[in-house]
Amino acid sequence: MRVANLQGRLVVIAGDPGHELAFDVEKGSNGRFGADPQRVYEDWAAFTGWAVTAEWENGVQFSAEDLGSPAPTPRQVFAIGLNYSEHAAESGFDAPTSAPPVFTKFPSCITGPHGVIEIPQGGHVDWEVELVAVIGQYAHHVPAGSAFDYIAGYSVGQDISERLLQMAATPPQFSMGKSLPRFGPIGPWLVTLDEFADPDDLELGCEINGEPVQRSRTGELIFSVSALVANLSASTPLLPGDVIFTGTPSGVGLGRDSQRWLGDGDVLTSHIEGIGELRHRFVVAAPPIA
Ligand code: ZN
Repeated sequence: MRVANLQGRLVVIAGDPGHELAFDVEKGSNGRFGADPQRVYEDWAAFTGWAVTAEWENGVQFSAEDLGSPAPTPRQVFAIGLNYSEHAAESGFDAPTSAPPVFTKFPSCITGPHGVIEIPQGGHVDWEVELVAVIGQYAHHVPAGSAFDYIAGYSVGQDISERLLQMAATPPQFSMGKSLPRFGPIGPWLVTLDEFADPDDLELGCEINGEPVQRSRTGELIFSVSALVANLSASTPLLPGDVIFTGTPSGVGLGRDSQRWLGDGDVLTSHIEGIGELRHRFVVAAPPIA
């Protein structure tokens, strides 16, 4: 099942690529489930139980530009650093072994799968395509073997990063550099795990103006999604609708011999096999990083 946020309303998506229809959940359920795309995770098991048997009528065509994040206002956003060995190497670090490095993207940076992202004048803004997992059930002390029971589904994320701001403090302040407005795109929808032949091995990548810059598979994750749920929930309860950015593969601008940053007019497309695509255009409009 695919679940989306269409102009702020919870919808279920059906149909082949390019011919998708959106079905309004509040109307289709006669109000049993509300229109708020974030609140559905509070009642996720009941929602999915109902949705698989519901008779969907009155589907509407829609523009991808009208989609928002399938988790637009999470209470907690976890982000994982250095979770692919080649990315750890290009960043100048040993790959983590005992525990994943964790930071947050503050929830105000969350945005949808399409649109314009403003970047600072003279900035060093970088791209990081990532698999995003959304939590579907309160999770505390969850073993890795049952982690999937606590995940509502997967989406495509970009952990957009302002490297000047990230490096402005010692040690680096990851959370600040990664939380400018719209620096946390998620979309185009949430896909439940039953839709994937192997939820632990999905091809992901991104392109700038059509040029491939990142390409890998989530099978290369050092800490799998299940391992992350186990590690995070061992200390911090994961709440319904929380978001986990699971880490980026190699190919970011920071790690290149000749470093590269997103510039005015650049178009970044990001995709994950079996989920879909994000598309964002960058414009230099924000004041310089102080
Ligand atoms: Zn990242």
